[in-house]
Amino acid sequence: MRKHQSTDKTHFDLQFNVAQLLKDGVGSFRHYDLTVESIGTLDAESDMISPMSGPVKLVCTGRTIFVTGTLKATVEKSCGRCLAPFNAEVVIELEEEFFPSIDIHSGHHLPNEADVDEINLIDEQHILNLHEVVRQEFVLSGEIFRYCKADCLGLCPVCGRDRNTDPCDCQKQNIDSRWTNLLTLSNN
Ligand SMILES: [Zn+2]
Ligand SMILES: [Zn+2]
Repeated sequence: MRKHQSTDKTHFDLQFNVAQLLKDGVGSFRHYDLTVESIGTLDAESDMISPMSGPVKLVCTGRTIFVTGTLKATVEKSCGRCLAPFNAEVVIELEEEFFPSIDIHSGHHLPNEADVDEINLIDEQHILNLHEVVRQEFVLSGEIFRYCKADCLGLCPVCGRDRNTDPCDCQKQNIDSRWTNLLTLSNN
C-alpha cells in the first residue's frame, strides 16, 4: 500500500501569505506544523519561555480564512499568593476567522466591516498574522494557572514573609489575642 503523502509543512513563524489560498477558493486548505520561537512577554504577569508548537489548519471559506489549531508552550507566571515565579504548560485552541483587506481577484480595497477586530484583518500584502490572536489566547488560557502550587501558603498579610519557606507566628498571635478577648468577655 502506498503511503499517504503528508501535506504538513513545517512553519517557523506566525505569518502566512494566504494569496494563493484565497485564489484557490472555497474549501481549499493548508496544514502546517508550527514550530515557532517564543513570543516573549504575554502580559504584565506572564512570559512565554519556550518555543510554541502544534498543528494549524487554514481553510478558505470563500471570502475569509478560518484558522484552527492547537498550540502549546511553557509560560512563566508569578504566583497569585506568594508572588514567586513558576512555569505552566499552556495549551490553546485556535478558532479564528480572518478577513482580507484587499480583494484577491480585483486588487481593490474591501470595505471595513464594523464588527471585525483589527487583529483579524489580513493585510494588503495578503499576510495573515496570528501573533496578536495567539498572544491573547495564551494569556486567557494561562489564567487557570494562578498559584505556584495548590496549597501555596502565600505571604503573611502582617509581616510579608513567604509562609512556604519562612513561617512566622503572626497568625498564631492573632488567634491567641482573639481567644484572650473571648475569655475576657466570658469572664465578665
Ligand atoms: Zn505561591
Ligand atoms: Zn507574619
